[in-house]
Amino acid sequence: MSEIVPGTLYVVATPIGHLGDLTLRAKAVLGGVDAVCAEDTRTSGQLLAQFGLSRPMLAVHDHNEGDVAAGLVARLQAGQALALVSDAGTPLVSDPGYRLVRAARESGVPVVPVPGACAAIAALSVAGLPSDRFCFEGFLPAKAGARRERLAALSGEARTMVFYESAHRIEDALADLVTAFGADREATLGRELTKRFETLLGPTLGAIARAVAADPNQRRGEFVLVIRGNEDRGAAQLAEGRRLYAKLAEHLKPSQAAKLAAELSGAPRKALYDGGAD
Ligand code: SAM
Repeated sequence: MSEIVPGTLYVVATPIGHLGDLTLRAKAVLGGVDAVCAEDTRTSGQLLAQFGLSRPMLAVHDHNEGDVAAGLVARLQAGQALALVSDAGTPLVSDPGYRLVRAARESGVPVVPVPGACAAIAALSVAGLPSDRFCFEGFLPAKAGARRERLAALSGEARTMVFYESAHRIEDALADLVTAFGADREATLGRELTKRFETLLGPTLGAIARAVAADPNQRRGEFVLVIRGNEDRGAAQLAEGRRLYAKLAEHLKPSQAAKLAAELSGAPRKALYDGGAD
């Protein structure tokens, strides 16, 4: 199982809760590299220790990644093998690592994925919603205004959407989602996946919002929200057309805004603007 190639950056997924989800390959790589680049060296040091492993740990997080990437690439070019992990799940998925991976690839350093747990994919795999095409939206903006704007932009999205959410924002986010997409939109909320209090709620945004409001326990832990896309093409085009019209009308004459919004969205111009003097 000794597959460590000198001068290689291994991007290693770690469990999102259940320790049994660390793959055999991840364990071998983490035990064999010269050092492990970790978002939080304590958290990842403890994870390694639980598997009887101990490697030098290097901190690579959102606040220092830009500064340390060049030094790490130099280590790789000098022949060291490094692993990159985040606190949980797959690095780079709403986690640090993008700048290091990019710098390594730009320098010709081999970058090898060691796949495993990812909360978004775990939730999608059990949501029972169309999964042939989906989009990952990560975290919604924390501020209410920006969040509502993002949701308005997604009102016409036809693909299944996957969102991450934290305990302190889940109620507000659900309220805004009900307003933006309607209470009847099909959805699944995955909470504490792979952990002791793992819960799946559904089948609609309205039902999930009610269940979360009614039980404080349902507001604890970590969440992934999987939401069915807007499959009514006409309604989706109209929603997108109205959103574009509202923005464009801030700068253009109403008739021009309607023409452009109709062209871009595919919605009928008349549905966006009913004529009259500009
Ligand atoms: N890189 C990670 C991955 O591959 O899933 C995600 C990191 S992101 C900083 C953390 C967010 O992922 C949490 O706020 C939550 O939305 C989601 N998450 C992580 N673990 C989870 C779990 N066990 N159950 C539900 N959601 C989880």
